[in-house]
Amino acid sequence: MSEALGESAPRLAVLGAGQLGRMLSQAANTLGVRTRLLDPNADACAGQVSELIVAPYDDQAALARLTDGATALTYEFENVPIESVRALTERLPVAPPPIALETAQDRLSERRLFARLGIDSPRSVAVDDLLDLAQAIERVGAPALLKARRLGYDGKGQHPISDPADAPIAWEAIGRAPAILDAQVHFTRELSLICVRSAAGQTGFYPLSENVHRGGILRLTRAPAMGVSPELEAQARRAGGALLDELGYVGVLAVEFFQMGDGGAGGGATLLCNEIAPRVHNSGHWTIEGAQTSQFENHVRAVMGMELGECSAIGHSAMVNLIGSAPSPERVASIPGAVLHEYGKAPRPRRKVGHVTITAPKRSELDTLLERFTRVVA
Ligand code: AMP
Repeated sequence: MSEALGESAPRLAVLGAGQLGRMLSQAANTLGVRTRLLDPNADACAGQVSELIVAPYDDQAALARLTDGATALTYEFENVPIESVRALTERLPVAPPPIALETAQDRLSERRLFARLGIDSPRSVAVDDLLDLAQAIERVGAPALLKARRLGYDGKGQHPISDPADAPIAWEAIGRAPAILDAQVHFTRELSLICVRSAAGQTGFYPLSENVHRGGILRLTRAPAMGVSPELEAQARRAGGALLDELGYVGVLAVEFFQMGDGGAGGGATLLCNEIAPRVHNSGHWTIEGAQTSQFENHVRAVMGMELGECSAIGHSAMVNLIGSAPSPERVASIPGAVLHEYGKAPRPRRKVGHVTITAPKRSELDTLLERFTRVVA
């Protein structure tokens, strides 16, 4: 708990107090850093482990309390108002930089940034009205995905288009909001890169992880991803490095890719970049047990002006999200190498209430344990 660190410990201010804020606070404490978080929700689960201010993100008095005496400010949530974040740069160092947040809040800006940096992504066209959408379907082809430019997450704000006749339904489904139309790509798998840059410009890259989504929600991450050729890993790191440099980035950045082609040891696979998240990321939770330094610790190190820790993996890890409800701790404990992380959130359908990480020295052992976990626990 932060309180145990005493008043003289340096403090990090955090916008958002969900599970990411909770795990950031826990990592900060191990570095001797206290946290104070702001969230409009009085039940925000990071409030169980740290000091929480309950107020809207644009409440000026609350923001003053949040930042009073803090060394730096970060955020754990992408949909914080950009104006609040920008204004705070006058008071204290804010990381990741607001330009990264602003870009990630808008799918169109994100794709334009990728294009400027030569990072390949699925073919996409901007859509502002129904007429645009009809033209976009002609250009991009069907099947395609209509994605609202803003406020989409976990598969929300998206609608598939399998035929031009679907346009009006899709347009209504996303609330007639400015959008992009994305060509539906036939990816082999989804991979993500968690990377980090310190205030001094030092960079670190975790190994690519392999992610499985269902119903628009991440279910399973395995890391390091198997069958990744050195070329593919290098392609991902070039993209991540270019983004970190271009944005003058400080902190952890998640970059989500689609792998096209089967590649493997023979090569030939390539990556399309789907999106970035300027924060610690669900596909990096495995790093708590599975890497030399967790993404949470490295994020705190970066934003507090410290040197980064090593990003290499320790053996093989699987992270299973607990959606809706959590299994009993006894059941999880029956699987060797499994660690339960409960977020202290009330069970609710589609809600991430925790995750389990399983680690093993070899991938084959990990897959056996994961299969047992799925059978016995999930
Ligand atoms: P997103 O909100 O962009 O992360 O999309 C959520 C999920 O939809 C992704 O994790 C993919 O499984 C799928 N998806 C998104 N964009 C595409 C695309 N262009 N082609 C195929 N599947 C996609």
